[in-house]
Amino acid sequence: MRSISLALLICLLVGVTRAHAEKTLNIGVLAFRDKAQTIQKWQPLANYLDLTLPRYRFALKPYTYKELEDAIERRQVDFVLTHAAHFVQINAMISLSSPLATVIERESDRPMPVYAGTIIVRADRNDIAQLADLKGKTVATSSIQGFASYQMQAYELFKIGLSIPDDVKVIEVELPIDRSVDTVLEGKADAAFARMGLPEQMMREGKLAPNSVKVLNAQKLAGFDWAFSTTLYPLWPFAAMTQVDDELAAQVAAALLMLPHDGEVARASNIWGFTIPANYQPVKEVMQALHISPFDQVPEFSWRDVWHRYRLMISFALLAVAIILLLLVWLALSRRKLRESEERLSTLIESAPDAIILANAKGLITGWNKGAQHLFGYAMDEILGLPLTQLMPRRYLAGHLAGMERIQSGEQPRLLGQSLEMEALRKDGSEFSFEMVMGSWVTSSGRHFSAIIRDISERKRISQELEAHRHNLEQLVSQRTAELEQAKNTAEAANRAKTVFLANMSHELRTPLNAILGFAQIMQGDKLIPENLRANIAIINRSGNHLLALINDVLEISRIEAGRTTVSKDIFDLSATLQAVREMIRAQAVGKGLALVVDIPDQLPRFVLGDDPHLRQVLINLLVNAVKYTEHGEVQLVVDLQPGQIIGFRVNDTGPGIAPDDQERIFQAFYQTEIGIAKGEGTGLGLTISREFIRLMGGELTVHSTLGQGSSFCFALPLPQANQTSSTVGTEYTAGDQVMGLAPGQPSPRILLVEDNPDNQHVAEQLLTQIGCEVCVAAKGQVAVQLFQSRRPHLILIDMGMAEMDGSQVSRQIRSLPDASDVPIVALAASAFQENRVQVIAAGCNEILSKPIEAQCLYRMIGRLLGLRYEYAGAGAAKIERKIDDLGNLPIELRQEICDVATMLDDASMLAIIERLRTDFPDEADMIAELVKDFRFDKIATLCCVSSD
Ligand code: ADP
Repeated sequence: MRSISLALLICLLVGVTRAHAEKTLNIGVLAFRDKAQTIQKWQPLANYLDLTLPRYRFALKPYTYKELEDAIERRQVDFVLTHAAHFVQINAMISLSSPLATVIERESDRPMPVYAGTIIVRADRNDIAQLADLKGKTVATSSIQGFASYQMQAYELFKIGLSIPDDVKVIEVELPIDRSVDTVLEGKADAAFARMGLPEQMMREGKLAPNSVKVLNAQKLAGFDWAFSTTLYPLWPFAAMTQVDDELAAQVAAALLMLPHDGEVARASNIWGFTIPANYQPVKEVMQALHISPFDQVPEFSWRDVWHRYRLMISFALLAVAIILLLLVWLALSRRKLRESEERLSTLIESAPDAIILANAKGLITGWNKGAQHLFGYAMDEILGLPLTQLMPRRYLAGHLAGMERIQSGEQPRLLGQSLEMEALRKDGSEFSFEMVMGSWVTSSGRHFSAIIRDISERKRISQELEAHRHNLEQLVSQRTAELEQAKNTAEAANRAKTVFLANMSHELRTPLNAILGFAQIMQGDKLIPENLRANIAIINRSGNHLLALINDVLEISRIEAGRTTVSKDIFDLSATLQAVREMIRAQAVGKGLALVVDIPDQLPRFVLGDDPHLRQVLINLLVNAVKYTEHGEVQLVVDLQPGQIIGFRVNDTGPGIAPDDQERIFQAFYQTEIGIAKGEGTGLGLTISREFIRLMGGELTVHSTLGQGSSFCFALPLPQANQTSSTVGTEYTAGDQVMGLAPGQPSPRILLVEDNPDNQHVAEQLLTQIGCEVCVAAKGQVAVQLFQSRRPHLILIDMGMAEMDGSQVSRQIRSLPDASDVPIVALAASAFQENRVQVIAAGCNEILSKPIEAQCLYRMIGRLLGLRYEYAGAGAAKIERKIDDLGNLPIELRQEICDVATMLDDASMLAIIERLRTDFPDEADMIAELVKDFRFDKIATLCCVSSD
């Protein structure tokens, strides 16, 4: 069937081509050994082709490698028949068309479609069991150009990482190919590279003893006994040159493929036949891997090829390159920055006025700026590399070297960052003081040190100078302080002397005044003294009191100036105080024909916490002034409640007013306005004292005034409400009923009066006996102590200013006696200084009574201390209660008559009128009598006129 179809095909081909002229086609065949042999082998195939394609004559051209290549290059052949490796080689150099068919070899009457290489070693070489064992060994091959006899095996070694000739040595032996096996058997090589089947063939031919050799990496092909060591590769290709047209190539390919396998022609050529073209790529890979020509040259390729093949790798590579470029740019920028910063730093270091020195771990100088050059006198090239000790006075050397040793032994530098003051050595040998800050850092080259050094010689000199100046200054200051201290002590001594002087003066002045006022009071209370004389006595009384007020003011102002005025905070009855003040002023106001209006809110707390005596004094001062300087109209005392337990006080009058310029000056000590001076009364101290008292109590005294319209003095004080149910304080001040004597049914109190001044003795004694007391008098302290023991008095009055033994001592002595602890002792003090009061209380006294003694105060104090009951001038009190401010109740005719009599200063007629008035108008009679007593006929006339308006 097969031969019929072949015959048909041949007929067809002959038929088709008959008409064409015969054309010779050359088949270039590689002649392995002998060219004649080659022709002999392949001629049957050529004949077959001639027969099959009668239009062509196929001429066999046996060539050596070189000849075949040249022929191909010159296009002297149309078809090529060579072994696989050579075909790949030629194809790489000159493009051939794809193989038309591949030879199937014939081996022992069997088709052999592929071939491979063997690696043969002697069977007794136990040290070579696998391919890797060939490392360092020698192999024999008939030719390194042979594909099956060398390249296949070399590629196998290449795949396991053994390269020739680095790892495996090769010796080329001459043909015939059996030589390679012989070389191994002779022991000249460790292994032989040969084509598959050679050992078996040699054994068959009796050239090789069985089992004398073994094949490494042995593999077998089904149906064959041969062992091989490499990958299987395709056999010889039959290829067409590119100039052969496709149709012809197809005809030849068809003829080859149609060649009967194991047919006559095949047998004649000692092949099995042809098959479809095999894949020669593995052969190419072998050659490429082994860099066999032409693959030892870098193949020409386009970027596109490269991109196509290595896209991913190129992308990665490009990315890597981009990253590297970026890194390089970054590195370059960093280096530039670093360079710039280094330049900046070095400029900074160079331009620094201080010396900057760098040194290494051995203490050798490695850096030196201009400042250092200037300071030490060494140029940079002179000093670099020299030890730091070059710059130190000898005394520092030991310490420095010890420190360096410590640091070298791994200890941390101790003085880093600290400011050190030392001396350094200049080049010229002179020393200078410097201040240094040291730094240190460690790099791969070891530890480094830096020192910033500043010359402080000048600073030291200046600081020494300053120190000297400071010392001088200190001396000066302490000298001045001492002088000032002395001046202060002198001033204080002077002040003390002034105070003592004033206290003494006060005592000296009050002592006679005590007698004067005392007797005046006694006489005024004496019923035996006629009325007209009593009026004179009243004048003595008033003048004496005025003098006393003067003395008190002067004392007060000196106390303020000495800073000794203090305010107390006691509970007192504010309404009682206001009542007393009102009573005190009322007579004066009435006497001048002025209306006195006291406006007190209903909610005013009765008991408050504050300084009653000072408040009282201020109010009296202001009201007395208001009455004193006001001729018409009224005087007002307005009290109001303000938030925060503050109580406001305002004294208004309708007097002359105070010029704006004077409104501040009137508070200066001794300042009086023209009106004040014209009055001829007063001292100009009242307002000064008042303002000071108010400040001490927490307020401020201000004045509002309009000339010709009146003045208003205001202040407000914190006077917190106090819980007190009955008034026990300040009773002595309360102007009330006059004590006339002891109420009946009480034993006479026995009073011991201790007073060395005979006049004052008399005054006090008489005042006491006048109300029924029994008095024993002692002029000396000792006598007083004795009298106390013998007479056991109920109460003791002691003058504090006695010459021999003073009142405090007497009080102490008496208090030290048995049963003397309860007896009340009242101190009679001419000096009213506050500190005296403290001393007096400390000496054991219960109370202090200021001299000159005010009779009613004395009586009330005794009464309170001994629990006495008195008889009062009841009728007088009633009269006082009913007192009136004007004469408006009197009939107009009567007022006219009084006015006339007053204008004529006719006191006899006035007294007659008073007597007439007693029955119907007793208050008015009293009021006019009071005014007559003071010779205030002018006021009487004014009041009559005012009332008649
Ligand atoms: P004096 O003892 O003179 O009254 P003061 O210090 O109390 O001293 O008063 C100082 C001066 O202020 C007085 O001399 C008087 O000129 C003036 N002055 C005080 N109060 C009034 C007043 N209510 N009306 C007019 N002038 C007054």
